[in-house]
Amino acid sequence: MPCEVAARFLILYGSQRGQAQSIAEEICEQAAEYGLTADISCLSKQDKYNVDSEIRPVVFVVSTTGDGDPPDTALKFVRKIKNKSLPHDHLSHLRYALLALGDTNYANFCNGGKTIDSLLQRLGAKHFYATGHADDGTGLEVVVDPWIEGLWDALKKTFSGMSASNQTDAARSDCTQDNNLKNASGQEKNKSDLEVDLHLLKLSEVHSQNEKTVTSDSSDAETHSTTLVASLKQSVPPLSESVLKVPTLPPSYLEVVLEQASTEGETVPSGKDGYHEVSISKAVQLTQDDAVKSSILLELDISEQDVAYQPGDSFDILCPNRASEVEELLLRLDLQMQRNCAVQVSLLKNSSKKAAKVPLHIPQNSSLQFILTWGLEIRSIPKKAFVRALADFTRSSSEKRRLLELCSKEGSADYNSFIRDSNVCVLDLLQAFPSCLPPLSLLFEHLPKLQPRAYSAASSSLQHPEKVHFVFNVVEFPACPEHPARTGLCTGWLVDHISSILQPLGTVPASECLGTSALPKVHVRPRPNSTFHLPSDPSVPVVMVGPGTGVAPFIGFLQQREKEHEMNQEATFGETWLFFGCRHKDKDFLFREELERFVHNGTLSHLIACFSRDEPDAAGTVNRPTYVQHNLLLHAKNVASILLKDKGCLYVCGDAKNMAKDVNDTLLEIIGNELQLDKLDAMKIVAGLREEKRYLQDIWS
Ligand code: FAD
Repeated sequence: MPCEVAARFLILYGSQRGQAQSIAEEICEQAAEYGLTADISCLSKQDKYNVDSEIRPVVFVVSTTGDGDPPDTALKFVRKIKNKSLPHDHLSHLRYALLALGDTNYANFCNGGKTIDSLLQRLGAKHFYATGHADDGTGLEVVVDPWIEGLWDALKKTFSGMSASNQTDAARSDCTQDNNLKNASGQEKNKSDLEVDLHLLKLSEVHSQNEKTVTSDSSDAETHSTTLVASLKQSVPPLSESVLKVPTLPPSYLEVVLEQASTEGETVPSGKDGYHEVSISKAVQLTQDDAVKSSILLELDISEQDVAYQPGDSFDILCPNRASEVEELLLRLDLQMQRNCAVQVSLLKNSSKKAAKVPLHIPQNSSLQFILTWGLEIRSIPKKAFVRALADFTRSSSEKRRLLELCSKEGSADYNSFIRDSNVCVLDLLQAFPSCLPPLSLLFEHLPKLQPRAYSAASSSLQHPEKVHFVFNVVEFPACPEHPARTGLCTGWLVDHISSILQPLGTVPASECLGTSALPKVHVRPRPNSTFHLPSDPSVPVVMVGPGTGVAPFIGFLQQREKEHEMNQEATFGETWLFFGCRHKDKDFLFREELERFVHNGTLSHLIACFSRDEPDAAGTVNRPTYVQHNLLLHAKNVASILLKDKGCLYVCGDAKNMAKDVNDTLLEIIGNELQLDKLDAMKIVAGLREEKRYLQDIWS
């Protein structure tokens, strides 16, 4: 059989939560449209590729995790290319491009990708296309989309630059390995899909081809275009009149069969993936009723589980999707009657999707309701590829046109504002576009795994044996044109779940009178932190910065120190500083009494609190500190001395979006002023503190 030669390249991805993987798959799927053939592998599958002898161009897509680390799936690969004994030209044959994913809200932006990039360079590998750094803080697609768009030209140039023999060799050798070049048929299909789409998308053609209602909708839109305002459902010129460039239709790859079978008795699997089912033995409201945000302390009884933790660790909590949203989704998909059917998922025969796999988070034989409740993140923001796929299941041509606009290059600003920034989910789209009726398989292909939410331990087991505490803010999202008011998935669920035992601030917990069987239960899994712990030497001074719920791990630290103090009166303990902040002293000063006790008994040397929304005091203090960073500046001498002279540690916990950045900037200012350094040199000192694990962050957004 003749072997069709298509220019071939390799995509390697290192993904932590699936984002890098799905971008890598998107590149793989688009390749055919450009007459190229891509092979794809996870970096962890080292038997599937070998960069040491790779002559095809390689595209890396790498995410970042933890404190700027490469994802777990890339660690082996990093170890391999980090090997100091490798010669400096070990990878001089390798031509590659790299797309790094990160979040500027966290330190060490895109460091996972940057690490791999610099190691490849050190071994002589060459870029054929500039590295992209995509920021989840502002939206990955802002960089990802143009980066992918430019990739095709860069690849084509690379192929034409490569010696003809090399290229043919590469293609031939791959053909022999994989004679099953089904991509060729996928390629044809994708091309024709695209042509049809572009054809359909010309507005004039939509007018002439489609039902009357569309024509009148569209002409209506034209007549009133000057007064119309764009919304999720509605576009305005020039977008509504543009010819659109839409993403390639992602190939479907799952087949879902619903069988009438009893699936009763399903519960959340305990013990699976390290989860333990534990009782919530106490729930206390920590804020006054009129506080802007409501914070709640939970105490979990871990006496019957083999669960150990240290202050500084977190716990993952499993939470279900809201029953009402699952119900609405079933209704909208016309599947209410099948809710208890057993779901069988298999791979579609003849799918052109590369490396297709049945997602592990969709368990076989579970009921449909169970999968929608515990398996899939139904609140996730639909990616453009999902919106593109939904368009193909939309009957009304005007609705289809709008969906295609939202995923098109021209409609990028509308996608950002009406989908991404408005946190629209698939249910919101289905409500906004009533003629869209996708098959279940499409949702299974595009909805990611429902993720657990993490909470920092706010206790020490020395002080609370067999218990762990944590504290959370109830997240609230007000109603907007795109969706009704909502609470955060996990925090909203927790509030409902604990309503029977919730105690107002300052009351005796009623749970002490309740039997354990009456207590609400939750599935938790320890999430150890390798660095965010008190120094092993208690004489080392520490500065803790934790406004709002960011104070949680420091309550654990201080409880630990208090007990260690009691147990060993002779030991020397270093100074402890806590910078705390909230809105109002009398409404949301979390753990106020406990913190004052720590100060009183000497566990906490300095409690420095600020209240951002309180009126100035009677003395009318001018320029009073509003946020934690202002207090850090006021105590700059002490902070600098602890870090620079006494070899102390600085811990920061809480909001990644603003606070952690502001504190970091303030630290640069403090160090710059203290040592008379410019910003660049101050940054080097701060980087050194991070490296020595004396500047530690545990931040979340
Ligand atoms: P989700 O439903 O997941 O929503 C959270 C985010 O999604 C929002 O911030 C917003 O960006 C977006 N979002 C979703 N829907 C909308 C919408 N309709 N409108 C606008 N935005 C929307 N939190 C604590 O309170 N205490 C802790 O001690 C704590 N410790 C943590 C430790 C670690 C290591 C990590 C990673 C996180 C920690 N968090 C903590 C954060 C916590 O895990 C959750 O992210 C948080 O509680 C929100 O979860 P949720 O399911 O209620 O909200």
